[in-house]
Parts: sequence; C-alpha cells; structure tokens
Amino acid sequence: PKAPPVAHYNLNNVTITSDPLGNRENILLLTPMARFYQQYWDNLLKLSYPHELITLGFILPKTKEGNAATTELQKQIAKTQKSGPEKDRFKSIIILRQDFDPPLQSQDEAERHKIQNQKVRRAAMAKARNSLLFTTLGPATSWVLWLDADVIETPPDLIQDLAAHNKPVIAPNCFQRFYNTEKKAMDERPYDFNNWQDSPTAVELAKKMGPDDILLEGYADMATYRALMAYMHKADGLRQETVPLDGVGGAALLVKADVHRDGAMFPPFSFYHLIETEGFAKMAKRLGWQPFGLPNYKVYHYNE
Ligand code: GDP
Ligand code: MN
Repeated sequence: PKAPPVAHYNLNNVTITSDPLGNRENILLLTPMARFYQQYWDNLLKLSYPHELITLGFILPKTKEGNAATTELQKQIAKTQKSGPEKDRFKSIIILRQDFDPPLQSQDEAERHKIQNQKVRRAAMAKARNSLLFTTLGPATSWVLWLDADVIETPPDLIQDLAAHNKPVIAPNCFQRFYNTEKKAMDERPYDFNNWQDSPTAVELAKKMGPDDILLEGYADMATYRALMAYMHKADGLRQETVPLDGVGGAALLVKADVHRDGAMFPPFSFYHLIETEGFAKMAKRLGWQPFGLPNYKVYHYNE
C-alpha cells in the first residue's frame, strides 16, 4: 500500500505583511464566547476583509449559558454559510466546547470585575484562549485577530487598518457607549484598562509580591500608576497614532501568527506577576516582539 501523501508547508512562503489583502493573507479570527450577541455577529459580517480568507474559531463553556450561546451561534452560522450571500461566507468555522474544572460561575459585569474573583477568572480565560489558539492555528495562518464576543462595533476595515501598521501585536482602544443621565444623551467612556505602559510604582509593587501574586489594573486598592491607553485617547487625535504597550487586553487584538508560533501564549499563572493577555504582552516582549496600541482607533464593548 502506498504511504499517505505528506503535506509540505514552507512557512517562509506564508507572508505576514502590511498589505494582507493585496497578498491574500489568511486571518484566523478567534473569539472566546460566554454569551452570544447578535450585534457581534452583524459586525463580523460587515468586516470588509474578504471573508473567504477568514477562518473563525470559537470556544464556549459547557454551562447552561454556554449551551444557549452555542445554539444561537450555530443558527447564525447556518444562515450565513448556507443561505446567505456568497460574499458573506467565511472560509471555515471551528467551534470548541470547554469543560472547566471547577466550572466557572457565570457572572455579571460587577461580579466578574471584583478583585478576589479576577485571578481565578483570568486563569480560566487564559486556558480557554490557549486551547482555542493551539487547536486552530494552521500552517497557512498569517494573522490572528482576537475579538471578544461582546465587542459589538468596529470599523469595517478593522483587519486592514490594524495590519497596515505592520506591528507584531497591536490593540485598538476599547470603549463603551452608554446613556449619560446628566447630559441626557448617548455618550461613551473607556472600557478596557488592560492596555497600558508600565510605571515605576508597578515595578516596585511587583518586586514585593510573592511568586504567585499578580498585579491587576483598574482597581483602586492596587494603585499602579501605569499609563493606561484608555485615557490616551484624544478627540482630535490621529487614528494612525501608535504607542508602545507593556500590557494588552484581548477585547480586540491583532497578532502576527509568528508571535504565537514562537510560543507566546496566555499564561494562566503569574508570569512576571502578570496573567492572561497582560502576561501574553510580556511574553511577546521577551521573545523580541514589541506590542503597540492605537489610542485613537476605537472599537466598542457591549453595555450590560
Ligand atoms: P471583561 O469584558 O474583561 O469583563 O471579560 P468578559 O467576561 O467579557 O470575557 C472576555 C471574553 O471571554 C468575552 O468574549 C466572553 O464572552 C468570553 N468568556 C467569558 N467567560 C468565559 C468562559 O467561561 N469561557 C469561555 N470560553 N469564554 C468566556
Ligand atoms: Mn467583555
């Protein structure tokens, strides 16, 4: 009997450039999903990057809430991939279900942001991201776009716009729309505080910590004095302005696939006193890949 054919991939032929569209580069769009939001899916469909070059990957928890989200997601997938217009159809779609041990409690925004819940939550999220990444990253992947399931509004040219900067890791600024009762009008506020530049205070705090302790951002009782990208936004600022970052969030994040191939993942443990996406930024840096952020390029998070 003949031996099965061997698939050869020359990674040097998989380009990762500032013109992914011109070079027909494959994008892997990864979303950990606890809840399904229709606006998230509608926004995906509006992405102007050729859908035939985009593979979608999802990981959902095996909880009641996760089951409901999976059902909703599959409904939309069937609609888009089978009966919808050809141009909307994605190259392929992968759905993973994950058991957590112990199972993660479903939590509302206030509950999951409590400091004592953060380490366990962030560790579980890191493992979910790693499982999703390591089962879906392929030899032809050029870029990985991390996009949370509650990021419901982005510019349609998101992929092209982020890739144009040709940075190993790049994060737009994640805001949230809300009704401002004082102004009696819709307004917006910064949401993601995980995109930051380090501070001497944070470095000193970390030095005094135990090996398993982690620094968290956005908590009054742990003042780090880091420079948060959330607050670097300027109304009249250039959308192309970039700033170097030491920590990143995962709400929306474009990563050159080579950064992940080199081994940069989401540490589910204290790595330089950082965890998950912030630990990922540190690991990328240690591998020689400097993360950047776009303070004036906004995407929007759902308002619970
Ligand atoms: P926050 O916005 O920083 O408060 O974090 P979220 O709770 O929104 O979580 C970030 C992303 O992970 C979102 O896309 C969630 O839908 C998703 N997510 C949250 N919890 C879980 C979980 O237990 N398992 C998986 N697979 N995804 C989750
Ligand atoms: Mn969120």
